[in-house]
Amino acid sequence: MTQSTLFEDKPGRTVSVLVPYPVERAYDYGVPADLDLLPGDYVCVPLGNREIPGIVWGEGQGDVAPAKLKTVLFKYDLPPVPEAHRHFIDWAAEYTLSPRGSVLKMALSVPAALEGEKPVVAYKLALSPGGERALSPVHRKVLDVLADGVSRRPSEIADLAGCSAGVVKTMAAKGFLEAVEIQGAPPCRAPDVNRPGAELSPDQKAAAGILSGHVRAGQFKATLLDGVTGAGKTETYFEAVAEALRQDKQVLILLPEIALSNAFLDRFQSRFGCAPALWHSNLTLAQRKRTWRGVAQGETKVVVGARSALFLPYADLGLMIVDEEHDPAYKQEEGVIYHARDMAVVRAHLGKIPVVLVSATPSLETIHNAWIGRYEHLHLPDRFGGARLPDVKLIDLRADKPERQHFIAPTLKAAVEETLARGEQILLFLNRRGYAPLTLCRTCGHRMNCPRCSAWLVEHKSGGNLQCHHCGFHMRPPERCPECTDKGSLAVCGPGVERILEEVKSYFPAARTMLLASDTAESNDSLRQMIRDIRDHKVDIIIGTQIIAKGHHFPQLTCVGVIDADLGLGGGELRASERVYQLLHQVAGRAGREEKPGTVYLQTFMPEHRIMKAMAAGERDKFLEVEAFEREQAHMPPYSRLAGIIVSGRDERQVLETAKALGISAPQGENIQTFGPAPAPPSRLRGKYRHRLLVRADKAVNIQKTVRAWVGGVKHPAAVRVQVDIDPQGFM
Ligand code: ADP
Ligand code: ZN
Repeated sequence: MTQSTLFEDKPGRTVSVLVPYPVERAYDYGVPADLDLLPGDYVCVPLGNREIPGIVWGEGQGDVAPAKLKTVLFKYDLPPVPEAHRHFIDWAAEYTLSPRGSVLKMALSVPAALEGEKPVVAYKLALSPGGERALSPVHRKVLDVLADGVSRRPSEIADLAGCSAGVVKTMAAKGFLEAVEIQGAPPCRAPDVNRPGAELSPDQKAAAGILSGHVRAGQFKATLLDGVTGAGKTETYFEAVAEALRQDKQVLILLPEIALSNAFLDRFQSRFGCAPALWHSNLTLAQRKRTWRGVAQGETKVVVGARSALFLPYADLGLMIVDEEHDPAYKQEEGVIYHARDMAVVRAHLGKIPVVLVSATPSLETIHNAWIGRYEHLHLPDRFGGARLPDVKLIDLRADKPERQHFIAPTLKAAVEETLARGEQILLFLNRRGYAPLTLCRTCGHRMNCPRCSAWLVEHKSGGNLQCHHCGFHMRPPERCPECTDKGSLAVCGPGVERILEEVKSYFPAARTMLLASDTAESNDSLRQMIRDIRDHKVDIIIGTQIIAKGHHFPQLTCVGVIDADLGLGGGELRASERVYQLLHQVAGRAGREEKPGTVYLQTFMPEHRIMKAMAAGERDKFLEVEAFEREQAHMPPYSRLAGIIVSGRDERQVLETAKALGISAPQGENIQTFGPAPAPPSRLRGKYRHRLLVRADKAVNIQKTVRAWVGGVKHPAAVRVQVDIDPQGFM
């Protein structure tokens, strides 16, 4: 049966259309007799007094009275959204307890792209040029540029010929050039798969062969590509990408952060001869339109994107890669709350295509799936080109003490000095922006807090202010303590990267330094330049936050110092150990990636902690096994399922009462338990009070069904928001 026979072509035919608004279901619309509609078609429908886009979701449900039935206005000129993607939207809505229309909205995120772009005027050589007249060199240059017969925009011709766009127009007026209309081309139309890739090592080759085989098989397969930092995981999965392109399929490569995409683009370009299409929140509308349309039409072949790229309506997706699959940035915490890695596996399953999860430090969820055989597990055990993994040394801060009001221990200081003497690079890592995380009054002990959040204000010397990292509130540091009004009594506590920079400059005044945090690079371009400067060895000591910890490859970097390896271990978060271990491992992985061996120094007050021991001994798998054992004992994920319920609002009493009401009727039983309510740190955020409950259930329990019935049954004031977070990453 072909798709078109799904709808009987008879008068009075109706279809249900899902619209990108927070609605649960698709609405019925009549179909004009002359309109041929397929499931998945993009249509324009009236809703209220507006005309909005929607997707044909299926046949009419017959639940709208004929008199009230409105009619589809027209169909957009695009191929229908594939069935797998529609199922994916249904599935994601069901799983995350979100309105289906809200999930659709993530797919239809650029309504302006539905129309297609207006053609632009371009010029090509006129067939019969206007006679032989004396031509100036610049006119000749223009003719040369167009000699290949290609039509180009005036600005492009002017660029290539080194003249002004005015010259081009004059030549057109004189009959040398002919005006034609062209469509702006979608990005990444023609990657060249015939360019030779890197010569792979035997391990890489074996893994690449298996992955390419999955692409050819065209079936669902989830594979963990597990390889040490610097193993060449990217080169390896590029072979699977090439295979998908040979099959004329589209490929999605997910990256956790845009900061990583620059270096990635360069690598992709040198492998495939063209840049991939990019998808993240910092694009211009014009870029979004082009990419969205290219993806929907199937013309854009490769998308490299942040988590939201997952919902783009690919016409013919054939492979997905989730690079750095363990990264917490894959969790979307606002609006539709989802985990992009988990959703990618679902999308692959529904689309019957392979998905590759890539990491040197797999998440416990993923490694568990590999252990039980649900995911295939491919190993790249060695660094490429014989590079050795770095030596990891622990610095016990209790014995090896930094000077007063300083944070770099003597051992680390000496290591920096030696590395500088060898002409190599150093990375000092501290995952804390600004100068100091806390400002406090020496007289009365008052702490400078955000007026809107339960959080300390962080001093930023560069901005000359105190900032809230939760809501962006900022103020000039006051001269007097706001509590006891003592003058000059406020003092900073603890380090941020700016303070470490200050210390480095005082110890090593001749060294070239660079501070790299999300707020020190003004734009993506300046970030890109900074990364290049590091690679070109224009910097000796880099002081950075996690923005620099992952993915990058700096050949001269041989010494990594972690200022506070314990950061994140306090507080009893479920994933605290796992996260700290992953981050330390990633940072350590920046050292000694080529022939020069690297050393990593971890400054810690807990050298006996199993994370520090595992790091020093290079025992990743042992760490994971112990961590898994503890989770199993505690009956926590991946051995159970969790749902977080966040109750928030401006009125503290209303929030508390709602949370209590939820607590009273909460699911409790043999295979499901509810904890809380309790304040959800930060217990106040942007002026809203927050309480949470946590549901834990056996894996066999349908947690969505239970939670939906429970939460749906508790009435609460409209000013209170109740949000459900399935598979919460933190308890925050
Ligand atoms: P990973 O992602 O596993 O940390 P990368 O893919 O970044 O490792 O590879 C590390 C470095 O080794 C990169 O500079 C990469 O270009 C290089 N490399 C890896 N495999 C090969 C290969 N087969 N031939 C040449 N260079 C390679
Ligand atoms: Zn705040």
